[in-house]
Amino acid sequence: MSERASVLIVGAGLAGLGSAMFLARRGVDVLLVERRSGTSPFPRAVGQNQRTMELLGFAGVAGDVPTTEHGEFRVRVAATLPGPTFHEVISETDTGLGALSPALPGTAGQDEMEPLLRRRAEEFGATLRFDTELVSFSQDNDGVTAVISGPDGRSEVRADYLVAADGARSGVREALGIERHGAGKLGQNVSIVFDADLSDVVEPAPPTLHVLHNPDANGVFITIDGDRHLFSVNAEKLDDDQCVELIRLITERPSLAPRIVAVMPWEMAAEVADRLRVGRVLLAGDAAKVTPPSGGFGGNTAIGDAYDLAWKLAAVLDSTAGPGLLDSYDAERRPIAERVVAEALRLAANRGVTEEVSEAQRAVELTLGFRYRSWAVVAEDDDPLDAEDPYRPSGRPGFRAPHVELDGKSIVDLFGDGFVLLTGKDGLCWTDTGLPTHVIDSDEFLARYGIGPSGASLVRPDGVVAWRIVDAPSDPAQALLDVLTSVLAR
Ligand SMILES: Cc1cc2nc3c(=O)[nH]c(=O)nc-3n(C[C@H](O)[C@H](O)[C@H](O)COP(=O)(O)OP(=O)(O)OC[C@H]3O[C@@H](n4cnc5c(N)ncnc54)[C@H](O)[C@@H]3O)c2cc1C
Repeated sequence: MSERASVLIVGAGLAGLGSAMFLARRGVDVLLVERRSGTSPFPRAVGQNQRTMELLGFAGVAGDVPTTEHGEFRVRVAATLPGPTFHEVISETDTGLGALSPALPGTAGQDEMEPLLRRRAEEFGATLRFDTELVSFSQDNDGVTAVISGPDGRSEVRADYLVAADGARSGVREALGIERHGAGKLGQNVSIVFDADLSDVVEPAPPTLHVLHNPDANGVFITIDGDRHLFSVNAEKLDDDQCVELIRLITERPSLAPRIVAVMPWEMAAEVADRLRVGRVLLAGDAAKVTPPSGGFGGNTAIGDAYDLAWKLAAVLDSTAGPGLLDSYDAERRPIAERVVAEALRLAANRGVTEEVSEAQRAVELTLGFRYRSWAVVAEDDDPLDAEDPYRPSGRPGFRAPHVELDGKSIVDLFGDGFVLLTGKDGLCWTDTGLPTHVIDSDEFLARYGIGPSGASLVRPDGVVAWRIVDAPSDPAQALLDVLTSVLAR
């Protein structure tokens, strides 16, 4: 007898734990397997952008993530920590971000995020099994059969869908024969987490990424918290003694005795999978693409993938949508993967020597001004641009439904469950169409959503505009039904 689950997830990184949490929140019966014994102790992906925080907010977990309202972040280029600065850029995070979203950027490391997601996924009823790995799988028209191996030996799982959140070296992706394209391997690095009192070497504020151009210790250094630091250095492999030597070199303190907490080799690469879905198997996170750490996109897009596949899988599983909706996962998320990899490569090439203002603008356009093109949105135009300025949103289908403040709350707080209809003060005709409908008497809302007082904007469960109509049609219920039939591939 095989065990049953609606969705089997492989991997408990940000993509897998995020998928488990978002799916279980929608009532989907989830089993996650992870070969490691627990979540990762490495800070790795530090920082959550506002879009990620909105998505986490939809699952009620954003309140547990530390945030930053404003402040400075410095990128400093030098050869050693106390040595002369070759170049530095100080960027202000307070660039009016409150105008874009009710969510502030988060500052948690992956070592903090993973336990949060894990706890919330379990609270929603997901089953997470550590020390358990996926050995093999096959799929047919009705589902996926997987062999897993854990402390009690091997067993079989039958699931409707499989989510491959098994990281950059995804065995599932390889088994499916999905190729990747891109710049490929960019270098081998070793991340060293260590404790040392460096108060006489680095200034505590503003938070600084030290980019060290040093022939003997080329890499990046950042203080994680107090006496805990991370040095990520170009190297193949290092033992603890070599790590200590490198830390002494970059701190110019030959007798420093740092405590090495963890050493993790990792490969920097830029590659995107050619497909994110084969039948009943979907790739998410690093399995779908790997990107250099510059820009901090890896962890954020892992959460973005997880949210996207979760609402779509949940809708297909409860038959509110047809299976064709899943085609939009690849159509929407793969272009995002391509864009973030291109941006991360550009940032890596320019590290520390770019104009801060345009950098901040590019970042918000990528994270909040992105455009989805797929059958799950009713496009109005063939504007070739992939993004818009979120400070001047158009409200067009495919873009994120803009934040507008209403009585101290944000419109964005209305999203995150099912589809929602927004209309103006003359839109009472929409209120008996069967969808949750909000009549909003605000000129700013009408302007930002590009509709008239009797028109409507249909917002998807991910807070993206699916469709809009400037003025009410003669039969609003029929118009909405036609749109939902198309968007949900019924
Ligand atoms: C040094 C470093 C620094 C980084 N810095 C940043 C940053 O600043 N900002 C940012 O956004 N991103 C950053 N990233 C990237 C970020 O860590 C990843 O993008 C993110 O972790 C993606 O998570 P994931 O869930 O896709 O994969 P992973 O975290 O790699 O998780 C995959 C999991 O799958 C498990 N697994 C694999 N195969 C199996 C199997 N057969 N059975 C069971 N389990 C399996 C693995 O054990 C692993 O736990 C960094 C990455 C590294 C390595």
